[in-house]
Amino acid sequence: MGRNNKYAEVYIDIKAFDIDHAFDYRIPPDLSSDIDIGRIVQVPFKNRIEVGYIVKIKDESELKDREIKDILKIVEKRPVFNPERLELIHWISEYYIQPPGSVIKFFLPPGGKYKQAITSPRVQLKFKDFITLNRNRYNQLKDKINWKRNSSQKKIIDYLISGGEVLKEKLVKDTGSSYSSLASLADKNIISIVKKRQKRDFRYEYRPGKDLNKKKIILNSYQKNALCSIDNAIQKNIFHKFLIEGVTGSGKTDIYIAACRKVIEKKKRALILTPEISLIPQLFSRFESELGSRVCVYHSNMNEAERYERWLGIWENEFDVIIGTRSSIFTPIGNLGMIILDEEHDPSYKEGTRVRYNTQDVAIKLGEILNIPVVMGSATPNIVTRYRAEKENDFTLLKIPVRAQSSSPLETQVVDLKKIDRLKEDVAITAKLFTSIREELEKNNKVIIFLNRRGYSNFVICNKCGSVPKCSACDLSYNYHSDRKKLVCHHCGREQNYTGRCLVCGADNIFLYGTGIQRVQSKLQMRFKDTPILRMDSDITVKKKSHQEILSKFISPGGSILIGTQMVAKGLDIEDVTLVGVINCDSMLGLPDYHMNERVYQLITQVSGRAGRKRKKGRVIIQTYNPESSVMKNILANDYESFYRQELASRKELCYPPFSNLINIIISGKEENKVKKDIKELFAEISKDTRTGSSILGPAPAPFYKINLFYRWHIIIKSKNIEYSNKILTKILKRFKKFDENKIIIDVDPVWIL
Ligand code: ADP
Ligand code: ZN
Repeated sequence: MGRNNKYAEVYIDIKAFDIDHAFDYRIPPDLSSDIDIGRIVQVPFKNRIEVGYIVKIKDESELKDREIKDILKIVEKRPVFNPERLELIHWISEYYIQPPGSVIKFFLPPGGKYKQAITSPRVQLKFKDFITLNRNRYNQLKDKINWKRNSSQKKIIDYLISGGEVLKEKLVKDTGSSYSSLASLADKNIISIVKKRQKRDFRYEYRPGKDLNKKKIILNSYQKNALCSIDNAIQKNIFHKFLIEGVTGSGKTDIYIAACRKVIEKKKRALILTPEISLIPQLFSRFESELGSRVCVYHSNMNEAERYERWLGIWENEFDVIIGTRSSIFTPIGNLGMIILDEEHDPSYKEGTRVRYNTQDVAIKLGEILNIPVVMGSATPNIVTRYRAEKENDFTLLKIPVRAQSSSPLETQVVDLKKIDRLKEDVAITAKLFTSIREELEKNNKVIIFLNRRGYSNFVICNKCGSVPKCSACDLSYNYHSDRKKLVCHHCGREQNYTGRCLVCGADNIFLYGTGIQRVQSKLQMRFKDTPILRMDSDITVKKKSHQEILSKFISPGGSILIGTQMVAKGLDIEDVTLVGVINCDSMLGLPDYHMNERVYQLITQVSGRAGRKRKKGRVIIQTYNPESSVMKNILANDYESFYRQELASRKELCYPPFSNLINIIISGKEENKVKKDIKELFAEISKDTRTGSSILGPAPAPFYKINLFYRWHIIIKSKNIEYSNKILTKILKRFKKFDENKIIIDVDPVWIL
């Protein structure tokens, strides 16, 4: 056929390092009209048939004609990604230094549908038979059939003649007829039976209660101003970034909702991203009650069938507003008109395992590609985002300094733990905290207690032989979990039964060192016997819907205490919470990661923000060993601006982001010598390039140097020109393909360097 041959570049969906690039295939003429970017096809590959994704159509191929094979068949006629999303795929791949093949996976329907479709589909679509009457055919035949002898068939026709299409089961049930009568009518072509996809119905059951029936909200002047600014970008169809820096309870959600309305009016769709699954039910209820039923939820903790159904619904443009966690940025939302990132500072926006992307930067890139506004909101913005909002021309900072409903500001008190006499007072629940809890409970109010440490104790130590049980795979001490009576490794998850006897000498004289959230729970339960005390942490909420159950119990009328890790810090908008207690955050401040000040500031401010959100006055009690540290001072004064300025100054001095971009490269493997050898060679390669003015730290053992039997060494690049560094690094890594035994992790813009 010569010149008219068209070729496609196809990514093959199999996991292997050496094939992570596109392959050329010929487009057979009979398929040519249906082949386009984003289509899923079957192709021959190494004597097998594999599934692939088309990323490019071209007139010529560098391969010889006889080397090129034909595309066999189209698996899905509708593209799963369009050219714009493909642009995003390429950007993610280049910026985060990951092969495009692994980035494409994010954009595919959940459940590995297409690859498995050939051999063993995991998620089956449900199809049901629908029946319609073929009126013409019936009119032709109706006088020729003896209806008396076929009364059952007649009944079916009488049933169908008044209406349209009916579900088969319903028809059989309503008419009391048999499947054989249906079959004979179908044989005569009097009725048609068509299979249609049956949509599964999944709805969020959680309703936060009284808040839903509230009166219509009239935006205050700060909110109006923010909305107006965002709406301007919506109307002009331009890419523009917004950072809403609004104190907790300032009514950011209502700005989001109002902005979504504007987007919907323009017949476009909006995506609302949230860092935590636990925040979704409350957001969903608020959006749904304001915007109606075309709001859907999408996150990775749904079961596969549900996620798949949602994904298809989004693909088929069934929803106007999609609320989800980070993976929803990859769903095929058509005609997207705005992206919102709530709690933009949250480190959960970073995917931490596979392709280590930052949802925020992916969202900004997508906004840029699609020419739409990207709105971020937080009470405690990420230092980098805040800096960008100040510096960049297409970035607007919108400040909301007041709470929407509560007129009195939060009252924050500090307890200096250094001054506590440990013999007289409990440092976990000091006298001050205890009395305050009691006062609030007596008034039927609710209390939130925050402690960022799972389990019961930090570690256990035998008072007789001094041994501390450690996880053999990580070389780090086990935490004790009293609820399951187990020692648990917080790094790899390994568990061991624990009877309370020393595993080495058998003595039962065991000291449980340090306070975890389970210990605080049991202490509180002892002191407040009749009060419901609920715990929310990742040990509990692995069960589906459990956080909804916990929240429903917590908000039911009467005094109650919710104790939790960072999960309780975020987003909860509960009327009667009047006291928040922070057990202490000091250990976090000591960790060797430049982000820690920021994290502690964010966590404490966020959790404090749960108190006194409505009519009732709120107070916060913070227990700390370091009340005089500058972070704590700023927290106590609720002064983000001053915290930001100080943090920025110290980052500038050390050239940390936003004054550089970091790339953390970790090599890990079971044999430490090989790990060291690889990382040294890589370091030498990277050091050869001195043009960027980047500095390279390491190689050094990673802060957690052994996890799950793997030794970990790392290099950190502080780059002054991230695009350039990424390109160089990509080249080096292509040459440097000796990681067969060791694993390499590349983390561009890490949110933790621990
Ligand atoms: P944020 O997300 O900024 O912490 P929310 O959006 O949760 O704050 O708002 C806090 C509370 O204030 C919510 O219950 C919300 O319904 C209410 N609210 C928001 N805007 C107004 C307003 N203009 N007038 C009255 N109440 C408002
Ligand atoms: Zn471990």
